[in-house]
Amino acid sequence: FARRARSLGEVLAASARHGEREYLVTADRRINFADHARQVASVACALRDEYGIGKGDRVAIAAANSPEWVIAFWATVSLGAIAVGYNAWWSRPELAYALGHTRPSLVVADSKRAALLDGVPVLTVEEDVPRLARSRPDAPLPSCAVAEDDPAVILYTSGTTGRPKGAVHTHRNLTSVIEFHRLNSEVARVLGDPTDPSARRYLLGVPLFHIAGLHNLVVPRLADGSAVVVHQGGFDAERVLRLVEAERVTNWGVVPTMAHRLLEHGNLARYDLSSLTAFTLGAAPSSPAFQQRLRAELPMAEKGLVDSYGLTESSTAIAVAAAGDLAAFPGTVGHPIATVELEIRDASGEAMPEGSAGEICVRSPFTMLGYWEDPEATAAAIDDERWLHTGDIGVLSDGLLRLAARRSDLILHGGENVYPAEVENVLAEHPAVRECIVLGVPHVDLGQEVAAVVVVSVPIEAEELRAFAAERLAYFKVPSRWRIGPDPLPRNVTGKVVRSKVPRP
Ligand code: ATP
Repeated sequence: FARRARSLGEVLAASARHGEREYLVTADRRINFADHARQVASVACALRDEYGIGKGDRVAIAAANSPEWVIAFWATVSLGAIAVGYNAWWSRPELAYALGHTRPSLVVADSKRAALLDGVPVLTVEEDVPRLARSRPDAPLPSCAVAEDDPAVILYTSGTTGRPKGAVHTHRNLTSVIEFHRLNSEVARVLGDPTDPSARRYLLGVPLFHIAGLHNLVVPRLADGSAVVVHQGGFDAERVLRLVEAERVTNWGVVPTMAHRLLEHGNLARYDLSSLTAFTLGAAPSSPAFQQRLRAELPMAEKGLVDSYGLTESSTAIAVAAAGDLAAFPGTVGHPIATVELEIRDASGEAMPEGSAGEICVRSPFTMLGYWEDPEATAAAIDDERWLHTGDIGVLSDGLLRLAARRSDLILHGGENVYPAEVENVLAEHPAVRECIVLGVPHVDLGQEVAAVVVVSVPIEAEELRAFAAERLAYFKVPSRWRIGPDPLPRNVTGKVVRSKVPRP
């Protein structure tokens, strides 16, 4: 396109130009762009003709990552229907809640999830989707008039602070994400980077029901013609490293838990990772000490380590830190990306000066429309001028953003604010500390006191850790309560510690 596409259907129709290039690659299958478009057209016509799916209907997808997930997604949005990503690890009651919430006309599910779904038509990933993909070999892609602000996708937040909320993303949100990727490549080309974007090979190891997998990977790749290499069957360090090696992956995005597992797997020099140019962390905090370990053990990280900060509600990254930023300004999540306006605001909504800690608020073409059928939560998150209130507390200085805490995790200790990330980053510097989490626990006089839950790699006394923290932090930030373990800390699927489930010291 010489202009931004106006709908995902338009993006899909244009993808046929990538023809024989590979779009979806698994350990045993290769689907090129032309094949993909044919299969999507066949599934879309079957959904329309056999199941009556049309504009505004919801088709939920409850499945682990697979090419069929992607085909079902594109078939749904090409009909103007809304693709709803259900978390593939939800239990029966969680799925029941989501069914009641988004009321899909049908669910595309793998057999594990199909067994947990009651009272809704189900198409299985293993049999039905491949059958429908073969059913109409000459079907044209359906044409459907959608407005740019029509909903295209609903993705649920990961639910760290309560029940997951359904963020509604429009065609405009996603075509703007695609346009952002295109402009980035174009600027890089003008500045002398000769890499053809379609020559890149991206590893998909994060879930498709998360923005990192869907909006940042699978959707923009259909536009730029690059390959998505799908790691299936749960994260497995040995298998994923062999896949990166065999498929000459260039771009790899992980949640920090996966990066931890790679380091624990050990001796990465055994693998030929020379094709990798970018290794991107995101979705959850990673401490500067941990990033330093990555640089030491993954040689390409010296130049290619990236940290990316975003929310389900923001559709894509809000800020991105390149390797140089991470090394020079430990703890940063980088510069706000172009086309995102960012302000740090105080509790009354006033913009705060450089260097102050306040709520990160953003406005951009990527911001979700709102939460599905939840006007109250939408009004709390997005104000009248379309600023998204992220609920994250951050500091902006010299153009670089640093995250201090989720607003709900801020510790109020005797009139002082304690930002968990600052204390966690200090504890992570101790060689015995593998993981840690800092929380507020109720205290009679002080309101809250600072508590640390630490996972250690060698036995150590809490007193030694306390002394270590006291040398580096103001007295009121030093945890007064300690607990060693549990190992591992309770995490959700995006790798975030679920603080409500962490046993209090
Ligand atoms: P819920 O809103 O239901 O509690 P959630 O906020 O965990 O769920 P997500 O949208 O997956 O759901 O997570 C967004 C949050 O993840 C951000 O608000 C931020 O706190 C955190 N986050 C994202 N990227 C990073 C990063 N690179 N470093 C640190 N934290 C991050």
